[in-house]
Amino acid sequence: MFDFIIIGSGVSGARIAHQLTQEGANCLLLEAGKHFKRENFPQSEIDYSAQMFWGGGLELSQDARLGFLRARCVGGTSVVNQALLDRFDEDAFEDWRFHTGIETFTEADWEPYYEEVEKSLSIQTIPIEQQNKNAKIFTKAFKEEGYFWAPLKRAQANCAIEKGSDCITCLGGCPRGSKQSALVTLIPEAEKQGLRIETECDVHSIRVKKNEITVHAFQKGQAKEWKAPKVALAAGSFGNTKILSRSKLKKPLPALGKFFSCHPQYMVYGLFEEPIDAHKGAFQSVQSKDKKLRRFGFKFENVFAPPIGTAMLIPGIGSNHLEAMKKYRYLASMEIALRDEAVGEINVTRSGKIKVKKILTHQDKQRLQEGLATARELFQAVGAKKIIQGEQGFGLHLMGGCAIGVDGKDSVVGPDFQIHENPGLYAADSSIFPSAPGINPSLTIMAMSQKASQEMLS
Ligand SMILES: Cc1cc2nc3c(=O)[nH]c(=O)nc-3n(C[C@H](O)[C@H](O)[C@H](O)COP(=O)(O)OP(=O)(O)OC[C@H]3O[C@@H](n4cnc5c(N)ncnc54)[C@H](O)[C@@H]3O)c2cc1C
Repeated sequence: MFDFIIIGSGVSGARIAHQLTQEGANCLLLEAGKHFKRENFPQSEIDYSAQMFWGGGLELSQDARLGFLRARCVGGTSVVNQALLDRFDEDAFEDWRFHTGIETFTEADWEPYYEEVEKSLSIQTIPIEQQNKNAKIFTKAFKEEGYFWAPLKRAQANCAIEKGSDCITCLGGCPRGSKQSALVTLIPEAEKQGLRIETECDVHSIRVKKNEITVHAFQKGQAKEWKAPKVALAAGSFGNTKILSRSKLKKPLPALGKFFSCHPQYMVYGLFEEPIDAHKGAFQSVQSKDKKLRRFGFKFENVFAPPIGTAMLIPGIGSNHLEAMKKYRYLASMEIALRDEAVGEINVTRSGKIKVKKILTHQDKQRLQEGLATARELFQAVGAKKIIQGEQGFGLHLMGGCAIGVDGKDSVVGPDFQIHENPGLYAADSSIFPSAPGINPSLTIMAMSQKASQEMLS
């Protein structure tokens, strides 16, 4: 019997496993995906999408207007994400106090947890001299239009941009081991302390009894079960909702699957006369930092996508699409991320299929229109020849489904990170977000997981 079982090895699961093993606990980490390492990351965009992501690369909302990305591998989405780390501001915390009834969601209360996490990682910004042309267009446009921008803070150690590294390859796992994903930071340290990891192990459900929780899983098709007095669910928004909806719990959870949000993201491209080569160097280094845009309910990040991703986003078919793609090197792009209303729903069918109902609300659509108009102004201000609006929306920040709160009627997880009425069963990952902060979520997931680990040890 283990002291703790952790389900899911991503941003939250790896941190919890690390914290608990550092305290000498006997832990088991269960992960549905494979254990890729820097030496064997799949090499092409098509291969890493197929092998390292759920749904073979992409999952879709029920009406297919939003595509969702989440990783399936040891280290979870930290392996393929952009590692941009931002603390919540007072506005995000105030919103969470309102939705959860938890008064300790304040900047002051969370300061020590943020600090502890930040100390454990190498966090850098890209110096101006290393910004690529896409970033320079972004900052010039912001200056012309009078908006504030700031460098992005990224968990990275030694990207060697000056030696010609192209960070876009990191979207399939960082080949240098520079990105501070759980795969290179927390997991190897926890393994040294005795953490046992079971990979390709898809957890089906759990059964909660007094002082004992049984985890049922299928590993490479074979039924397995493990037991522990305490279990952390860290399978993300979709994963946790799916596992809990199939589990035998002490009491039903009426709010399970509710309050899903995802910061829907839309790309806008500016076509220029000269090559921009937005895919080269530090392909993402600056973001909007403007109170006016935050009030409007969206933000901009300077980012670009590899060729297959771009081909999905650029509108058109046949020869028109081909002609547009031939201009890949001449495209600059910026991404609008909406602070959406958390009214999405995650449902799980009897056969275990995840169905996500996520339709933009009237307010979301207004925010999107405002964002698109602002992006057009920005590109016009710097002389783009043509402005192209990406058609497909994406959700990279999957949040909610097991919202945190004091009241079991409209939340799943309590203030102590235990699932309501199910002592010993914990969650502190993206699934517990009660609403969309409009801010990169990972740093706060890490901080919450840090705090939840203390609760689990107490
Ligand atoms: C391309 C991309 C870029 C992003 N960039 C940023 C960024 O720059 N900054 C930021 O803050 N956020 C970013 N995000 C979002 C961020 O990575 C996620 O919000 C975060 O990883 C969520 O953490 P988590 O622990 O909840 O889930 P994850 O990190 O997704 O981990 C969940 C793990 O659980 C496993 N799992 C799921 N179901 C099961 C099961 N049944 N049994 C066993 N294991 C299971 C999964 O395989 C996965 O490994 C990005 C996301 C993407 C896709």
